[in-house]
Amino acid sequence: MFENRIKSINNKKMDKNGDFIIYWMQRSIRSSYNHSLEYAIHLANDLKKNLLVIFCFDRKFSEMNERSCYFLFESLKDAEKNLKDRGIRFIVLDSSPLITKILEYSKRSVCIITDRAYLKYLRKIREEVGEKVSVRMIQIESDVVVPIEIASLKEEYSARTLRGKLHKVLDFYLNKDFEYTKYEMNYLDEIKTDFDLEKIHEIIESLNIDKTVRKSNYFTGGENTAKKILENFISEKLEGYSKFRNNPELEYQSNLSPYLHFGNISPLFVAKEISKSEKNRESLEEFLEELIVRRELAINFIYYNQDYDKFQNMTYLWAYETMNKHKNDQKEYVYSLEILEKSETHDEYWNSAQKEMMVTGKMHGYMRMYWAKKIIEWTEKFEEAYEIIKYLNNKYFIDGRDENGYAGIAWCFGKHDRAWNERNIFGKLRYMNSNGLKRKFDIEKYVEKINKL
Ligand code: FAD
Repeated sequence: MFENRIKSINNKKMDKNGDFIIYWMQRSIRSSYNHSLEYAIHLANDLKKNLLVIFCFDRKFSEMNERSCYFLFESLKDAEKNLKDRGIRFIVLDSSPLITKILEYSKRSVCIITDRAYLKYLRKIREEVGEKVSVRMIQIESDVVVPIEIASLKEEYSARTLRGKLHKVLDFYLNKDFEYTKYEMNYLDEIKTDFDLEKIHEIIESLNIDKTVRKSNYFTGGENTAKKILENFISEKLEGYSKFRNNPELEYQSNLSPYLHFGNISPLFVAKEISKSEKNRESLEEFLEELIVRRELAINFIYYNQDYDKFQNMTYLWAYETMNKHKNDQKEYVYSLEILEKSETHDEYWNSAQKEMMVTGKMHGYMRMYWAKKIIEWTEKFEEAYEIIKYLNNKYFIDGRDENGYAGIAWCFGKHDRAWNERNIFGKLRYMNSNGLKRKFDIEKYVEKINKL
């Protein structure tokens, strides 16, 4: 079952006298197409043990704000309902530090099943839990199409070097049926949850988090919404994806990134649904290139380069050399974080992109590149620009703090890219300007669209 996705986090024994099997849900907040969940159900039926699904919420996690918390709790609410429909108890525990409650509950468990994550603090938490519990802990990789070590055993240089490796095995993963298992044991009604997910508003009110980053009125979390967004994308936008996806004044991207970030939808499920569609071949292929090659390149980067979030070690030597050479170049505009955050630069296209992010919690993909490149152009030091981009990205995007975000930011500093003709300020880093926006699409329409938000 689920070849190449299963890995033991420790070598401890299962406690056959334990009351239940725990699936500690962390990365994959969904009830369907979730390999970890299906594995846990299978094991519960086999061992004739009940299954308890747990999510631990750390109210002191410093990067949380109103926007991300709403999305998270909406995601948890869908998961709770859908798991209940499958006869499985789901509880959300108030746990600071995060691992406290999982350690407590593990004392009554047979073993712990969890999903796989790649960011370093999430890897560390899993290792720590594995060390501290007295039972077996098993991790299942549920949020990539091709398991990371199957794709490659090293950090890849670019999409070109990873693409061939992925394509060699892709058919196997895309054509393999996903095995659903009916849960045959009991619903653990007596085990109490710490949060009433019917009362999300009250929960958020009670949290001591940054409430200046307001809830998005454009994106609601949860797997039920994620599936509707995918269906709508396939029927309304996929046909035109290859032609229009880079046009920010139009709506041809899928908008799935927040849902992939919170694990509300499986990338494997998305890839299979897209592959089945009868739409324009070019669009299908381009979408799968983004979803599989680009996304899994980002994961490869984060997994094999633990300095993915540090300016000093996230990009290539040629990029550091060129940045060093141009570090004292004269800049026409220099903006503080405060001016940038308020969208008050001289460039109305940039201000619109910033506003899109501030208001909706997402930004069109093409504008993300322009937005970050301009911050490099308008900041005294490359390192400072890196920190500002990362800060804004992770604060305002619902899909922030994601492998794709760290890779996208690093790309602006040469990672996975090539050296270009040398020029002022950027050196050999790729440069973008507003004439490019005017030439490629109707950028004024984008400004108009954002002004109406
Ligand atoms: P679609 O075009 O519909 O693509 C479908 C899926 O393919 C996306 O959801 C995503 O998983 C994947 N994908 C698309 N483009 C890329 C890409 N360039 N790299 C890797 N995967 C991709 N993405 C995030 O998820 N979170 C971020 O915080 C983030 N920050 C970024 C910052 C910068 C400076 C840059 C240049 C890119 C960033 N991206 C980030 C990558 C990309 O812009 C978004 O994934 C994409 O715009 C999401 O919108 P969508 O789901 O509608 O995309």
